[in-house]
Amino acid sequence: MKYAAIKNFYNGEFHESSAETLDVTSPLDGNHLSTVPLSSKSELDKAVESAKSAFDGWSNTTIKDRVQVFFRYRYLLEKYADELTELVTEENGKTLDEARAEIDKSIELTEFAVSLPQLVAGEILEVSRGVECRTEHFPLGVVASIAPFNFPFMVPNWTMPNALALGNTMVMKPSEVVPLSAQRMAEILKEAGLPDGVFNVVNGGKEVVEGICEHEDIDAVSFVGSTKVAKIVYKAATSNLKRCVALGGAKNHLIVLPDANPTMTAENVTASMSGCAGQRCMAASAMVAVGEMNGIIDRVCEEARKVVPGKNLGAVISKEAKERIEGYITQAEKDGAKILVDGRGATVDGKEGGTYVGPTVIDYVKPDMSVATEEIFGPVISIMRTDTVDEAIEIENANPYGNASSVYTDNGGMARYVMERASAGMVGVNIGVPVPREPFSFGGWNESRFGANDITGKSSIEFWTKLKKTTTKWNPEAGINWMS
Ligand code: NAD
Repeated sequence: MKYAAIKNFYNGEFHESSAETLDVTSPLDGNHLSTVPLSSKSELDKAVESAKSAFDGWSNTTIKDRVQVFFRYRYLLEKYADELTELVTEENGKTLDEARAEIDKSIELTEFAVSLPQLVAGEILEVSRGVECRTEHFPLGVVASIAPFNFPFMVPNWTMPNALALGNTMVMKPSEVVPLSAQRMAEILKEAGLPDGVFNVVNGGKEVVEGICEHEDIDAVSFVGSTKVAKIVYKAATSNLKRCVALGGAKNHLIVLPDANPTMTAENVTASMSGCAGQRCMAASAMVAVGEMNGIIDRVCEEARKVVPGKNLGAVISKEAKERIEGYITQAEKDGAKILVDGRGATVDGKEGGTYVGPTVIDYVKPDMSVATEEIFGPVISIMRTDTVDEAIEIENANPYGNASSVYTDNGGMARYVMERASAGMVGVNIGVPVPREPFSFGGWNESRFGANDITGKSSIEFWTKLKKTTTKWNPEAGINWMS
């Protein structure tokens, strides 16, 4: 085992768990990296108690002081960027470039958090003679963040810097499949000078998540993962009267019009569907080709063949994931679709224990096939063909998810037409992965997000705080009126 056994983190220290453990294995080669505890609810209680005890001290520090920790945290992310990149690659299986992008994005997220003092200043107005109303953002208390496997470092950084800078204390529950990055994050925050108890980590699975949703001392829950679990978490947290935002799965459509630039479109489609081995909630999963494609699909195939497992394509997370993805491809073939590029059975020499799926292009997919409707979460693009843009929009709109959608065209009017009608929270024009950069917020629509707020950016300020409205009168000569 390459790393020591994963521990929980509370009261500023690592604590060994007495719970049963799971093995943590690298998808790159099957190597045994560590073990992770499936912590019990009583271990969660200890972390919540730690966060609760730290809340008064931390929330009574000014925001300008709190963000000083995050200036240092940002510096440390740069200092440790190479080491963190390798850690993310090892535990998740993505390429080094993709892992490095996670660290870079975490730096950008932290830069947003340090700008929060500029954004959260309240408002003040003399509402009647001598009487003022003012607003201020107050932290909620102890908040929880539950993360998925596909971005072991970035997704925890979607929530942690903003929630903490705004004065909350946090319990983080990383994915039990990739627990190493969050453990390192706790160490780096301590080195940055974060007071003990402000950030805590409890490792585990379903039992810890259930405990979070029920816990009377947790005020808000953020979740990122599959739609199936997002629904469970949203229902459980809100039925226990907690604030909740739960981001779910995705099935993102790229609508390609005949006038699209062939080279740019083919490169974008391929990069979007195969980046992070298709395990991104923003990955293109379906391409709707409208009318005559002028060789664009041939070029997508050419580009896809340049994407090679073990070289510029990482591994998928597990043996089960590989089997599931290959099962979808086989089903599409049985249903009559045409496999133009086939990634089944991919292996990498010297890494026989790794779990790889090659890039896969499937053409002549019908809108009711499982590869057209379901989230595959692998490097697979399902191409459907339509005669009109309205038919393409109908297919996109019929999907229950609504994370991202993009249109490829050289015609501004057509781009606007699709952008207005796409049923997705994040829309791209000639962009394959339309992730909003800070300060714009991240969040889908429909079954890709439950709850009123986005998870990052300005929208997250409303999620992580409650607004206090204070009305003040000092001078008796201001008099009494109908509002006094
Ligand atoms: P997952 O839903 O299986 O797990 C997410 C978290 O929930 C993990 O921490 C896990 O321990 C916990 N969990 C799993 N099953 C549970 C259960 N039955 N009850 C309570 N908790 C449970 O998701 P995953 O496989 O880790 O991640 C992949 C999914 O996440 C994909 O569907 C992907 O689209 C989605 N995702 C969405 C976004 C977004 O922004 N919308 C971002 C990243 C990932």
